[in-house]
Amino acid sequence: MDYDKIGRIFFPVHCPICDRAQPEGQRICPECAGIPRIVQPPRCLKCSKHINTPGEIYCYDCLRNPGEYDRGFSLFEYQSIHDSISAFKNLGRPEYGEYYGRILGEHYREEIRKIKPDALLPIPLHEKKYRIRGYNQAEILAREIGKVTGVPVVNDFLLRPNVTKVQKELGRLERRNNMKKAFHIAENDVKLKTVILVDDIYTTGSTIGAAAAVLKTVGVETIYFITLATGRGY
Ligand SMILES: [Zn+2]
Ligand SMILES: [Zn+2]
Repeated sequence: MDYDKIGRIFFPVHCPICDRAQPEGQRICPECAGIPRIVQPPRCLKCSKHINTPGEIYCYDCLRNPGEYDRGFSLFEYQSIHDSISAFKNLGRPEYGEYYGRILGEHYREEIRKIKPDALLPIPLHEKKYRIRGYNQAEILAREIGKVTGVPVVNDFLLRPNVTKVQKELGRLERRNNMKKAFHIAENDVKLKTVILVDDIYTTGSTIGAAAAVLKTVGVETIYFITLATGRGY
C-alpha cells in the first residue's frame, strides 16, 4: 500500500461540488457530474469566452484591450462551479484542484501537444496569500496538467513579489494599472520560448495579460493560457 492510499483512508476524497466523501477511485459523485458546464459556443477566438453578440468573433474585453498572449482556453463557466472554486481556494480543499487539473489536462491534451510548450507556468500568488492559504491553486492545476501531458511545470520563473490590492475592490482601469506592477521574472538562465500560463479563473484578462506582458519583455515568444473557468463575455 502506498502512502497516497494510506492518506486517503484517513482523509477520503470529496466530491468537488457537494463535498461528500467518495469511494476510492471516484472523485465527482454521479449526482454532481452534470453540474460543471463547459463554455458553450460561440466563443471568442482569442480568450475562448462565450460571446453573446451574434456575428462577433472576439469578446468585448479582447476587442477593447487584446492581451499580449496568443490564445487561451477555459473549460467551465465560472457560475456553474463558483462555490466549488471558492472551496478549492479558501476552504482548504486542494484536492478539488487535483480533480480539475486532471480534467483540464485530458480535455486539452491535443491542443497542448500541438502547441509544444516548453513549460506550464502557474500564475503565482503573492507571498502573503500563499502563507495564509498554504498552497497556490494555479500550481495544483498546473501540476496535474503536467502529469497528464508530460509538460514540465516551472514555478520559479514568474514571480509575484509585491502585495497588490485585492483586484475585486478596484475598477477596470485601476485593475490594469495595479496589475502592471504585479509580476517579476526571476534572474535565472531558463530560456523559455513557448509557455502556457495556468490559472483558476479568467475574467477580464488583466492578470493573464499582465503576466504575458512581463514574459514578452524577457523574450518569451508565444504565450497561451489555460484556466479552469471563465466569466461570461459581453
Ligand atoms: Zn457531489
Ligand atoms: Zn476574448
